[in-house]
Amino acid sequence: MRILILGAGVVGVSSAWHLLKDGHDVTVIDRALPAQGGASFGNAGLIAPGHSFAWASPKALKVLLKSFYRQDQAFRMRFPPDLQLLDWGLRFLSQCNNTAARTNTLAKHRLCLYSQKILQQMVEETGIAYEKRTGGLLYLHRNKDSLEAGSANMKILEEDGLPLEIVDPDRAAEIDPCLKKVRHRIAGGIFIPGDESGDSRLFTEGLTRACEKMGGKFIFGPVIRSIEADQNQVERVVTHQGDFEADLYLLCLGCWSPQLTKPIGVNLPVYPVKGYSITFPIKNEEEAPRLGGVDEDHLLAYAPMGKRLRLTSYAEFAGYDTRHQPQDFTLMTQHAKSLFPEACDYTQPSYWAGLRPMTPEGYPIFGTGKHHNLYYNTGHGHMGWTMSCGSAKIIADLVASRKPEFDISAMGVR
Ligand SMILES: Cc1cc2nc3c(=O)[nH]c(=O)nc-3n(C[C@H](O)[C@H](O)[C@H](O)COP(=O)(O)OP(=O)(O)OC[C@H]3O[C@@H](n4cnc5c(N)ncnc54)[C@H](O)[C@@H]3O)c2cc1C
Repeated sequence: MRILILGAGVVGVSSAWHLLKDGHDVTVIDRALPAQGGASFGNAGLIAPGHSFAWASPKALKVLLKSFYRQDQAFRMRFPPDLQLLDWGLRFLSQCNNTAARTNTLAKHRLCLYSQKILQQMVEETGIAYEKRTGGLLYLHRNKDSLEAGSANMKILEEDGLPLEIVDPDRAAEIDPCLKKVRHRIAGGIFIPGDESGDSRLFTEGLTRACEKMGGKFIFGPVIRSIEADQNQVERVVTHQGDFEADLYLLCLGCWSPQLTKPIGVNLPVYPVKGYSITFPIKNEEEAPRLGGVDEDHLLAYAPMGKRLRLTSYAEFAGYDTRHQPQDFTLMTQHAKSLFPEACDYTQPSYWAGLRPMTPEGYPIFGTGKHHNLYYNTGHGHMGWTMSCGSAKIIADLVASRKPEFDISAMGVR
């Protein structure tokens, strides 16, 4: 079958790989080079089933209210909110109860674990190098109260089968010796030995090459202007470099997905949630983290990527604006210095900001809607790198009319 994939982020390219393996004739189009145009470029790199909590919870309401009067919060909202955010926000609020939070967290957790398994299989098969670090992630807490709350929170994942260890500062420093000198700055943490990290941009670039070897075609440059469809079938995709036709279309446009589907009558609940990312060269291997993790009290995720240390933070509801200024990164850098004071050359930052394609529930959208030949694999939110490979396998299964190994009954077009 001729399949046209819209979007060459980690989700689109992973989908291409699984569809090529099934023998399809696959073309991927994107306005940018693989992983360069969206969130897959500069994310924190964490493959983190241990961080698969749904954002929508009763706690989220308190965090949101606090963000109205505190500027130093990791969650921020720009006023006035746009219409897309109002619509999305109402759906998000409907998920801010204990029952939905539990259901959504478990769904995300299982998809993350499944996806990690598929990632490992793909890496074994392709040999892609992407600054992979296995051996676990550390979720650090700065004070006793937050450690207690964090440990209680983890119960849901532990009961769902995730191995973990609650650690004191000494044990944390044993796991990652870079913490030895700053033990006094943490109360402890949660160690998830199965979590890992790696650079999703490098992975996507490597996978693009693997796809090309299998006959996949990649066209970079065309800006998709519209999808032309009648009531139940897509006819073509219109770009500024001409039209593209296929038997089946797969939408992997991350947070830009709703912009292209709205004109054809499909309202996808995906909102761009901006995050900031800063990368420093590592100057002292001994003092740099061996493993990635999260400074939970500052919501600062970090991961060593070869000779670089990547840090990301903030969830800003500000539309599609990805602009950033050096001062946006001041607090993040301070927190990084307090944990890893001698690790990096902090005078050589690389700044970036990207948009997480968030659904209110936090899990992605799979399958078809009213157009029988338009498939969706979008809305992976803050865990899209972790969920990408499994999501791609699920889509290939759906296209082949195979039952996915993983239950996606709640994850259709909604
Ligand atoms: C700061 C930050 C930190 C994160 N940390 C993590 C993490 O640690 N672990 C994790 O699992 N996930 C993380 N994520 C989430 C993860 O990065 C995303 O969920 C994932 O990259 C989404 O991949 P995607 O392929 O769906 O979208 P994208 O990578 O955004 O790709 C979408 C593509 O669509 C293309 N496109 C859009 N519109 C058009 C158009 N009109 N014409 C042509 N092309 C178009 C873009 O160029 C882009 O290439 C983080 C995200 C951010 C922003």
